[in-house]
Parts: sequence; structure tokens; C-alpha cells
Amino acid sequence: MRKVRVDLGEKSYDIVIGYGIEQEIKDFVTSAGYSSKALLITDTHVGPLYGKKVQELLSEAGLTVTMVQIPAGESSKNLTVANEVFTRAIELGLDRKSPIFALGGGVVGDLAGFVAATYMRGVPFVQLPTSLLAQVDSSVGGKVAVNHELGKNLIGAFYQPQAVFMELNCMKTLPPREIYTGLGEIIKYGIIYDADFFAFLEENQEQVLSLEPEALVHMIARSCEIKAAVVSEDEKEAGLRRILNFGHTIGHAIEKETEYVRYNHGEAVATGMIGAAHISRQLGLIDDEAFERVKKLVAAYKLPLQAGGVTVDGMYGDIFHDKKTVGGKVTWVLMEKIGQVICRNDVPADVVKQAMAAVSA
Ligand code: NAD
Ligand code: MG
Repeated sequence: MRKVRVDLGEKSYDIVIGYGIEQEIKDFVTSAGYSSKALLITDTHVGPLYGKKVQELLSEAGLTVTMVQIPAGESSKNLTVANEVFTRAIELGLDRKSPIFALGGGVVGDLAGFVAATYMRGVPFVQLPTSLLAQVDSSVGGKVAVNHELGKNLIGAFYQPQAVFMELNCMKTLPPREIYTGLGEIIKYGIIYDADFFAFLEENQEQVLSLEPEALVHMIARSCEIKAAVVSEDEKEAGLRRILNFGHTIGHAIEKETEYVRYNHGEAVATGMIGAAHISRQLGLIDDEAFERVKKLVAAYKLPLQAGGVTVDGMYGDIFHDKKTVGGKVTWVLMEKIGQVICRNDVPADVVKQAMAAVSA
């Protein structure tokens, strides 16, 4: 078992990662001072697999738990579904100390977190992430949101959970493609922050891909440590937190151009990282060797080096509509070497377009 502390003053919390962590969950809940009524939000894939077990566990810790299952998939992350959950919460008489537990991937975590942030101006929130992406990314850092018809994650808040518990026994049922998705973000942490971690991912490919327990605990814990370190310094994305967007500028454009269907997030980010590495090399920030190492690792983890169904012009237009583009200037996160990135907002259009052409199939 590993514990990672997210340092945010009085909003600090622990992430607990391991196999068989029921007792840790029970101990936390018993001493948290919650009202007895609780909501467990999950989806139609994860609920049938683990919902009952978690419900029982929380009951043993003294809670009366109502489970709400939302349809699995991104299309549930909206205000209509959130409103259905609000209605249940009101009908059940949940009060300001009633905790909301999110059991599932990033969709469940983001939606449940949004509900927790806004129901009665905020109730206690606990994350139980079950997808690799949720474990290394969405459950850490306190961004919660739902989508709007006109764009993703546009309605949301910064709202930190009180604890995050990652039970790794539930990884056995995660579909392989969802594992690769998470690996996209994991590779990102190596590139932006930790050359040793990048080397670990190069040297332990078999163990990583087969989710061998020791490797799995390490890669999740190290990813959480890196995200926690960045978020602790910059909770609301005024500066440093931007480095977490490495690969995301082109990644988001790929997702948008392919209507969020063809590629999932980690895949698009992986291709976007190749694009960002390409720009870094064109600007003379990195050499060929660093570029090739990134490319090789992305390929080793079965992530796409190029995206189909996109055009350079389409993607180029998209980057100016990104939520993170302010005042018409795109802030690029670029590599200086493996383990270190910088932000630049002066990348010439032709360099960007060349990189986009290189990652288009
Ligand atoms: P997801 O929640 O849709 O989960 C992927 C699929 O795996 C779903 O079908 C889910 O039911 C299934 N699943 C999850 N755990 C499982 C398990 N243990 N066994 C079997 N099936 C399982 O998607 P995701 O990739 O986890 O998360 C993507 C979402 O996260 C997006 O909405 C994205 O915007 C959001 N996100 C948020 C942040 C943030 O900082 N808040 C960061 C990154 C991504
Ligand atoms: Mg991401």
C-alpha cells in the first residue's frame, strides 16, 4: 500500500493506493464525522461489478448508502444527469454533512464531484476511482465538471475530495484500451517532470502492460505524486499547473475533429505529445534522441503516433477555441529535455502546422 499526500493547506488529503484497502476506507469513514445518509454514485459498468461490495463496506462503517447508477460513458456527464442526482439527494434528505462517494472512471468522478461541489453549496466528497485514467489524473487535483452542448467541461468548479481510495483489485476488469488510455497520461508525467520515471516506463514495459502489482502501484503512486506536487503549488491553474497540459493542445484538437468518438482522451493526448515533441525539436529545444525516445515509448504502450480523420486546417482552427487559449495566444507546453518542459506562446504558425501534418495519418 502507498499513500500520497496532496498538500493544500486545510484542504489537504490523502490518496491511498493498494490491494485490499477496505480497512483504510472504513477507518477513514468512521472518523470523518459524516451524517449517516450517503450517496454512492457509479455507472452501469462499474456498479454491477463493485457497487454492492462498496455499499456493504460503507454500511459497516455506519453509513446508510443509496447507490445511483448513471449510464456508462461520456454522454452522461451533463446537467440533465446531474439534476437527476440532485433530485435523488433532495428526496433522500441528504444534508450538508452527507458524503458523496464516486465509484468509477473519470466520468463518474467529474459528475459526482460537480454534484458534491454544488449540492447545498458543497458536501463531503470521496473518490474511489476504478479506471487507470481516473486514478492517475481525474481523481487528483480537484477539477470537477459536466459538459455543455457547446463544449466539454465548461460547467464546473475546483472542489477537492476529502480522500481518494484506489482499490487495485478492481483493475482486472478494466478493458485493455482503457489501460492504454491511462498510460498516455502516465507517460506525460515522465516527460514533464521526472526523467527517472520515464526510464522506468521504458525499462518495465512488460510489467506495466500486464499491470504487475508492484509496477502498477509504483506507476500510479508516482503519477499521483507528480500531479499532487504540481497542483499543490498551483491549485487553480495560474501558472505551473499548465505543464499538465503537455500534449493536450493538439490532443484536444484531435478529439474535437474526430467528434470525441474515434479516439479516447489518452490516445489523443499521446498523439498530441508527439506533436508537441515535434515542435520542441523544430525550435531546437530537444535533439533527435529525445524525440525518438518519446515516440518509441508511446508506440510501446500501444498508443497512436498519428491520428486519422483530421486535417491540419481543422486542428489549427481548434487550438484557438480551446478553453485554455486566452487573448488569442496559444500557450504551448514544450520539452526542454525528458523530465523538463517550458511554456511558450511564441511558436510560429508554420512550425505548429508542420507538427500537425506530421501527426495526421
Ligand atoms: P470513463 O469514466 O468513461 O471510464 C471508461 C470506461 O471504463 C467506462 O465504460 C467505465 O464504465 C469503465 N470502467 C471504469 N472502471 C472499470 C473497471 N474497474 N472495470 C471495468 N470497467 C471499468 O472514462 P475515464 O477514461 O475513466 O475518464 C474520462 C473522463 O475523465 C472524461 O470525462 C474527462 O473529461 C475526465 N477527466 C477529468 C480530469 C480532471 O482533472 N477532472 C482529468 C482527466 C480526465
Ligand atoms: Mg488529460
